Amino acid sequence: MSLPTSLIQLVLPERCAGCALASGLLCAACAMPLTVPARAVRLGPGLPGLPQTWTVADYGGPVRAIIAAHKERGRTSLARPLGATLSRAVLATVAAVAEPVPGPDPPEQAPEQAPGPVLVPVPSARAALRRRGHDPTHRMAAVAVRVLRAGGLRATGLGALRQRRPVADQAGLTAGERAANLAGALEVVPRVPVAGRGVIVVDDVITTGASLAEAARALRQAGALVVGAATVAATPLRRGG
Ligand SMILES: [Zn+2]
Repeated sequence: MSLPTSLIQLVLPERCAGCALASGLLCAACAMPLTVPARAVRLGPGLPGLPQTWTVADYGGPVRAIIAAHKERGRTSLARPLGATLSRAVLATVAAVAEPVPGPDPPEQAPEQAPGPVLVPVPSARAALRRRGHDPTHRMAAVAVRVLRAGGLRATGLGALRQRRPVADQAGLTAGERAANLAGALEVVPRVPVAGRGVIVVDDVITTGASLAEAARALRQAGALVVGAATVAATPLRRGG
């Protein structure tokens, strides 16, 4: 008989999700890569339709373990540090698209009335949702919205996307195969108002950019203005193929 994960977590001392050595949710050394400054993602050959993407961490080592523990092993309390990291990538996106107000005149819209960023998470595949029992990107996006609001930004989350058809697991696929696997896979949920709105697509990791490009395509098709994308981590470029 196997015990539910939640029960095991109650009876066993918690170990760091990054190194599994230190006690607690996340040790200082493993949390460190999540706190470096946000940077723009530069993929080799640009993927058509991929919005300018900002990220924080390199996907590897403890960061990979932390994201997997949150995503696949139900350590949902990791949504807090991951969501805080995501919020910084969103802030970098907002800063990149914000245009300086020209001239000495005050802006027509008072800052407190200016619309804040609208975060649209890339949805989990339905099979993954059933297996995991939660949508990790949704959960991180919700935390990121709370962090941004606490910082005075009128951020909102919008679960605007859903899967239109099943897709194969992206792991092990080449960039071209990933794009083909995802083409037309997402759609905007009917009656969710995205037309004319500026949105930022958010996800946990950018690898080839295929997921973010497909999300952006579906949102644009529904009339949204995709101003950028933000992720917690990015897979380092593989050189020479
Ligand atoms: Zn650790």
